[in-house]
Amino acid sequence: MKIYEKAPAKINLMLDVLHKRPDGFHEVEMVMTMVDLADRLEMSALPRDTIIISSQAGYIPLDEKNLAFQAARLIKERYNVRSGVYIHLDKHIPVAAGLAGGSSDAAATLRGLNRLWNLGISNEELCSLGAELGSDVPFCVTGGTALATGRGEVLTPLDNPPQCWAILAKLPINVSTAEVYGKFRVDRVKQHPSAKGMIQAISRQSFGEVCQELGNVLEGVTFQLHPEVQQLKETMGRLGADGVLMSGSGPTVFGLVSKEAKVARIYNGLRGFCKEVYAVRLLT
Ligand code: ATP
Repeated sequence: MKIYEKAPAKINLMLDVLHKRPDGFHEVEMVMTMVDLADRLEMSALPRDTIIISSQAGYIPLDEKNLAFQAARLIKERYNVRSGVYIHLDKHIPVAAGLAGGSSDAAATLRGLNRLWNLGISNEELCSLGAELGSDVPFCVTGGTALATGRGEVLTPLDNPPQCWAILAKLPINVSTAEVYGKFRVDRVKQHPSAKGMIQAISRQSFGEVCQELGNVLEGVTFQLHPEVQQLKETMGRLGADGVLMSGSGPTVFGLVSKEAKVARIYNGLRGFCKEVYAVRLLT
């Protein structure tokens, strides 16, 4: 028997860091939503007690460093599953991009193995298993649109934002989330984005207000490390995107666009100097 799961990428419509906690994590407020750019996972049961990961992507670990492997190991241990699983990851989400590709693969593995092994695990329990693997995993388990607080694992579901296009562009540079958070200083933030403002914009279904409320306090750190990411953001704005923001700790920059007629022009304009560009819909 084979199980298939889609693992979509997330974007942050707003990301604020409130303070560093005594446990070393940062207290955050994020509004996150999913976009129609996804990895595809195929899972099949193995009689032997083993976890095997394969992928067509040559640049991700296939051993216990892979988050899908860690998710499978966790669920096997916690629910005493003696059989094994073969997981093939068909990667489409750029890696280390601020799009939670690894977290979404882990979440899809939890959902898929729950079905494959008929474990009957509730969504809440899948989320708390996910929180053991990474702060973004619980959101990737539930999907949709949500306010994430705590270290990102406390979720309040929200309505989906008004439908629009998201143009994602990723420069060929690696950004380490740990390094960005390590260099972040809350006292250097000039203006905090407002979770309340973004939630209101979404509940009013106002595309214009959603664009106005976009904000990410990590931009300052990543732009200082990689000024070309800031240039990419400015270019996307000049090309006519209605709102532009860096996702997560970067380096992916996304532009929201309401009119389909503008999408091709922005996409083609970006392709001139950025190889990885995607024009996708929000997953609503
Ligand atoms: P986040 O937005 O949650 O910080 P990200 O999009 O910045 O995530 P990922 O694509 O999840 O970053 O990759 C981060 C690291 O995780 C990479 O260095 C990669 O080697 C490792 N990794 C482990 N498992 C996976 C996976 N299934 N897919 C992609 N990367 C993975």
